[in-house]
Amino acid sequence: MKTDVLIVGSGCSALYMALHLSEDLNILMVTKKEAELSDSFLAQGGICMLRNEDDYDSYFEDTMKAGHYENDAYSVELMIKSSPDVIQDLISYGVDFERNEDGSLAFTREGAHSQKRILYHEDITGKEITRHLLEKVRQKKNVTLLENTPLVDLIVRGNVALGGVIKRNNQEEKVYAKKVVLATGGIGGLYKHSTNYPHLTGDGIELSKKYQIELKNLDYVQIHPTTLYTTDHERSFLISESVRGEGAILLDKNGNRFVNELLPRDVVAEAIFKQMEKDQTDYVYEDLRPIGKEEIASHFPHIVEHCKEKGYDVFKEPIPVVPAQHYFMGG
Ligand SMILES: Cc1cc2nc3c(=O)[nH]c(=O)nc-3n(C[C@H](O)[C@H](O)[C@H](O)COP(=O)(O)OP(=O)(O)OC[C@H]3O[C@@H](n4cnc5c(N)ncnc54)[C@H](O)[C@@H]3O)c2cc1C
Repeated sequence: MKTDVLIVGSGCSALYMALHLSEDLNILMVTKKEAELSDSFLAQGGICMLRNEDDYDSYFEDTMKAGHYENDAYSVELMIKSSPDVIQDLISYGVDFERNEDGSLAFTREGAHSQKRILYHEDITGKEITRHLLEKVRQKKNVTLLENTPLVDLIVRGNVALGGVIKRNNQEEKVYAKKVVLATGGIGGLYKHSTNYPHLTGDGIELSKKYQIELKNLDYVQIHPTTLYTTDHERSFLISESVRGEGAILLDKNGNRFVNELLPRDVVAEAIFKQMEKDQTDYVYEDLRPIGKEEIASHFPHIVEHCKEKGYDVFKEPIPVVPAQHYFMGG
């Protein structure tokens, strides 16, 4: 096969890219499983946005601080400054963010943010965003999307990628492309406990290593402090950070608080690990009741439902939570 651009993956990064390339280009997207099976569909809490210019310095500082000032300042600036346009794009695709009674966008808060800057759609923000991106991509005449079609190798000559090798119906096929985009997401599938889909096994990273493509910050792996504790072998279920942003508290085995719940994730995760070691337990507790019944029900319906399925009533009792691998920020 021949194409102008080969995009590998069907998460929000791959889809957003496909929507922003010229329509004169033929684009082939390949994705390892069904198109909906990406971490982008799993994102719960929300997406940050610069609300007004006055918030820029504080937003920048919060982000740098959460990254221990190791962040690439240019990337941080780009992310913050482009956020209003990206949000506008998403709204134009039909993404329905929560609104206030007067119709303005409603913002919530998450750990490490000193202001409310997070837009959300119930507790399934990623699904709401990504399903609209996918719908748009499916309408594009210049884009072909092949599901259950993993990229298994690159075609490289010298230091130039000429395309990729894909696997369809157990057959390997070569795809020649002028540009190849690796948007294969994270590495959670390599961990025992992760909130990610198990098929996300860092394939783009692996191929990059094979062909000496420069990689950066591979040790930047985020452990999310709060996933529902279970002894079942399944993808860890996230108790979103915005739950703590809205007032949920963390408790040790005796029901005492032991950390400021709004500190950055790595700090909260470390405090939980220490507490578990001290108490000799496999989890700590998260109590959602301080948020208030109505707010819990309207803001976090899917968390409520999932906990119920697992036998916990968040309106009546604290739930057991444990840290798990969550984001991979290198690549
Ligand atoms: C439970 C959970 C909650 C989250 N909540 C939030 C949140 O509230 N806010 C936020 O900003 N972020 C959140 N995130 C993080 C966010 O979801 C990710 O950062 C983002 O979705 C990554 O997008 P992506 O397109 O890079 O990768 P993904 O969405 O993971 O997509 C990767 C794609 O690559 C495909 N792929 C992988 N290997 C191959 C291969 N060899 N060949 C072909 N295709 C391949 C996969 O099938 C998939 O389609 C959350 C993540 C999780 C897991």
